[in-house]
Amino acid sequence: MSHILIVEDEAHLAEGLRFNLEAEGHVVDVDGDGQAALDRLLANRATYDAVILDVMLPGRNGFDVVKQLRAAGHFVPVLMLTARSRPADVLQGFEAGADDYLPKPFELQILLARLRGLLRRRQWMQQDQHEHEHLTFAGRTLDLEALELKVGEKAYQLTQMESDLLQYLVRNAGRAVSRKAILEEVWDLHEDTDTRAIDNFIVRLRRYLEVDPTKPQHLLTVRGVGYKFVE
Ligand code: CA
Repeated sequence: MSHILIVEDEAHLAEGLRFNLEAEGHVVDVDGDGQAALDRLLANRATYDAVILDVMLPGRNGFDVVKQLRAAGHFVPVLMLTARSRPADVLQGFEAGADDYLPKPFELQILLARLRGLLRRRQWMQQDQHEHEHLTFAGRTLDLEALELKVGEKAYQLTQMESDLLQYLVRNAGRAVSRKAILEEVWDLHEDTDTRAIDNFIVRLRRYLEVDPTKPQHLLTVRGVGYKFVE
């Protein structure tokens, strides 16, 4: 049993989701306003195991809600419901700190499967005794299940998307990978898009990884191509 917050202003959709999640044995709360949801999450930090967050909301949009959450150090898993599946919108959600997304209209079974994925990860994060898979590089350790990056004494909590991108770059160490390959192979996005959105992810990863993010030693820009990770 998990405690889920649904943030959706279309009452029939929110109530339909509530009905189905309760049938799965979850405890469910619903907010129809972005600001109210943000206030609730920040006031009840340990309450929720996952959030289903619509993008178009009164009060504060979904992108902004997740951005404020992450800025406040709140890393509850967030599944965003996007109205369109355009890569630019999807990337905006990931940039804001969402863990996963689902374009509307969606199949209920797909939503439940995505939610189970997020909750499983949540469980891993809470079980310290669990044998986590780690990726070690350049004196850094990335915990692939807790999505935590350790750099010396410091630990950073990554989102799933940040972690996926970093893993991909590390596993292709020494090779230049194109922005297009990153979109397709990391996030399964095939349409043409503004691939510069990826650059913002790299900027964030550099802040975690690099001693001086303005003079990167590990996450290198390869002009005209994309990026390259070197140890
Ligand atoms: Ca809406």
